[in-house]
Amino acid sequence: MSFMQTYSPYKTRKTGGFMAYIVLSLCCSLKYLTKLIRASVCSFTRNSLTLQPENTVVMKWIGRRQSTNVEDRRGMSFGGGSIIGGGIIGIVILIYSLLGGDSSQIESVLQQANNQQVQEQGPAQELSEEDKVMGEFVSTVFADTEDIWSKLFRENGLDYDFPRMVLFRSGVQTACGGASSASGPFYCPSDQKVYMDLGFFEELRTRFGAKGGDFAIAYVIAHEVGHHVQHLLGTMDQMRRAQQGKSEAEANRLSVALELQADFYAGVWTYHNQKYLDPGDIDEAMSAAQAVGDDAIQKRMQGHIVPESFTHGTSEQRKYWFMKGYKSGKIQEGNTFDEL
Ligand SMILES: [Zn+2]
Repeated sequence: MSFMQTYSPYKTRKTGGFMAYIVLSLCCSLKYLTKLIRASVCSFTRNSLTLQPENTVVMKWIGRRQSTNVEDRRGMSFGGGSIIGGGIIGIVILIYSLLGGDSSQIESVLQQANNQQVQEQGPAQELSEEDKVMGEFVSTVFADTEDIWSKLFRENGLDYDFPRMVLFRSGVQTACGGASSASGPFYCPSDQKVYMDLGFFEELRTRFGAKGGDFAIAYVIAHEVGHHVQHLLGTMDQMRRAQQGKSEAEANRLSVALELQADFYAGVWTYHNQKYLDPGDIDEAMSAAQAVGDDAIQKRMQGHIVPESFTHGTSEQRKYWFMKGYKSGKIQEGNTFDEL
């Protein structure tokens, strides 16, 4: 349900991971911490328009309706020293992932610590002006998804139950389990919430080579809301059932179809929202889709690609399905399961 494949090339390596994590975190912490702390902690303390390439026009969002279904947990702090702990846990997982480890193992080991931190919330922290602007922007985009999907569902004789969006930093508890920023944006069907650490978008630009921009963010939100649409339509459950008893390669193929359909729905939403777009917005979405294709991520991270392990689709596929939705605007034309 996430926006992109979480990079973990050595999925079969199951032992020694925790020791490796300790050693790696000690050896590499200084070098990577400096870079990652800057990326994860400071990205929005600068002008939030650093997300926007210079001299480009921004999407028309200022002054429009903002969703009331956004939970902003970015200002929450944790008791005692655990605010550092939460950040470090996310960073250590990132470091370990970057170096080719199986981060899921660390995440499970550290999950209990994370759970405790979430329960030990302290007084709220003040958000910066830039943080507030970013919160207003994503709330406006989320409101646009509510308006358009309500309309499309109504036209098809269905009710659209609004999802919620949770903004967080470092780590978050969900009905699907705990997650860190390293997971990237994701949707949890059990609580019908989209989870976003907005620091991801700085990473998308600096680490994955996307050009950035406000519409890259809108595309990611629309992709996650696309998963909510799949949840409401029953596609997600059908796909999970279809995966049972299948080979890993076949299960991955179904996952790719689900993800590409979420990209298609993001395109459909964009079609119906185009009066608010500005020149360059589609390029920003395409650049983000290009950056997070499984082939692009694998090539960047390990130098070669393993198509059977793809779970989200190639850059070309992701761009193709987004554009297909954007050109047609019709949800009926997004049967990725039959067309793959
Ligand atoms: Zn997804």
